[in-house]
Amino acid sequence: MSFSNLGLRAELLRAIAEEGYDTPTPIQAQAIPVVLAGRDLMAAAQTGTGKTAGFTLPILQILSTRAATSRVKPRVLVLTPTRELAAQVEESVRTYGRHLPLKSLAIFGGVGLVPQIRALKSGVDILVATPGRLLDHLSQRNADLSGVEILVLDEADRMLDMGFIPDIKKIIALIPKQKQTLFFSATFSDDIRGLAASFLHNPQLVEVASRNATADNVQQRVYHVDKSRKRDLLIQLINDHQWHQVLVFTRTKHGANTLAEKLENAGIRSAAIHGNKSQGARTKALADFKSLKLNVLVATDIAARGLDIDQLPHVVNYELPNVPEDYVHRIGRTARAGASGQAASLVCVDEHTLLRDIERLLKRDIEKVAVPGFEPDPSIRAEPIENGRRGQSRPPSRSRSTPPGASRSQPARGTASRQNAPTHHSGFRGR
Ligand code: AMP
Repeated sequence: MSFSNLGLRAELLRAIAEEGYDTPTPIQAQAIPVVLAGRDLMAAAQTGTGKTAGFTLPILQILSTRAATSRVKPRVLVLTPTRELAAQVEESVRTYGRHLPLKSLAIFGGVGLVPQIRALKSGVDILVATPGRLLDHLSQRNADLSGVEILVLDEADRMLDMGFIPDIKKIIALIPKQKQTLFFSATFSDDIRGLAASFLHNPQLVEVASRNATADNVQQRVYHVDKSRKRDLLIQLINDHQWHQVLVFTRTKHGANTLAEKLENAGIRSAAIHGNKSQGARTKALADFKSLKLNVLVATDIAARGLDIDQLPHVVNYELPNVPEDYVHRIGRTARAGASGQAASLVCVDEHTLLRDIERLLKRDIEKVAVPGFEPDPSIRAEPIENGRRGQSRPPSRSRSTPPGASRSQPARGTASRQNAPTHHSGFRGR
């Protein structure tokens, strides 16, 4: 299968070739024909599968062949849960559409309204937005959705987790009934299925085996280490192996800040990225990390969600996540779309149950590596884990055997963790 078999026009094939892609990923091979045929789509695919091109390419194809009824009103609306994802999707639209005369715009909160108003008034074909900021514009009549022909809901499960569904319903009420809807979600809980059923008309279901579920290309390792020695071990690993681009996950925003500071003090160029940082600071940190001005980006789970960093070589779990599926999401940040990568987890005695849950989900043991000088002290006893809110311990361990991407009947992913870490959301709502 090649991109030219998919019936895409020459301008798109040229942009694809310039990106260096030679074969469509499974989600692209399956989704592109469905979208080109004008069908509604319900796709189970997470970040890292190439899903963005899976909807962006056929959308660009459709818009460039179908006559526009308005020069100003957006013809496509893509809704995303986070600002970063909105910016990245719009960047993909620009990349793949660079040889076509179509205009795109990302609108999200945390930055000024005025430039967005100006851009909206000057005409946009493809609008990528977070729900909150879009509603602000709609209430001020800066945007008109009456010309939307295609609606994309990206990372619908995250939008559900983050409480965006009422906003999305308000937005959809302003879009013509006659439209094509594309619905992407990493997981398909009953809630997500219900949501999809209410938004989609006779959808074609596309499910790709999550590359993250097997994480074939990710070399995973566990380093058992005492909590108080994690920082020194991380510094040693980075220095000894000369890791130059490392995404490090912490459980809390405070933990992310402290660790980034300590790494800086140790001479490792680092920054933290999380919901309490201004949009400007987050954008700059990501750009500096991508251009290797920074070697380490310390992030919380929600902040890292949707970050698109090509061929990220190293992911470190400084602390294991509370929900095993988040481990799979985290390590999926490396080894994306065919590249290989390494994931290291620093695990202290408090986290042994979390590690067991993760290994149960993966259906295999993760390789354990001992670093001389960092052997855990056997006299240290496990303590409850804090979750970002003082005095709160982690929820009882839940073991799950359902692989990510498969349907589950229990509450949507993250219900427990989100309840225990509500502060992770602040600043990430679209306003
Ligand atoms: P996504 O899942 O849309 O976030 O894409 C993940 C990454 O895969 C992005 O960095 C894309 O640039 C890259 N990518 C998308 N499609 C392909 C392809 N067909 N071949 C190689 N890389 C791709």
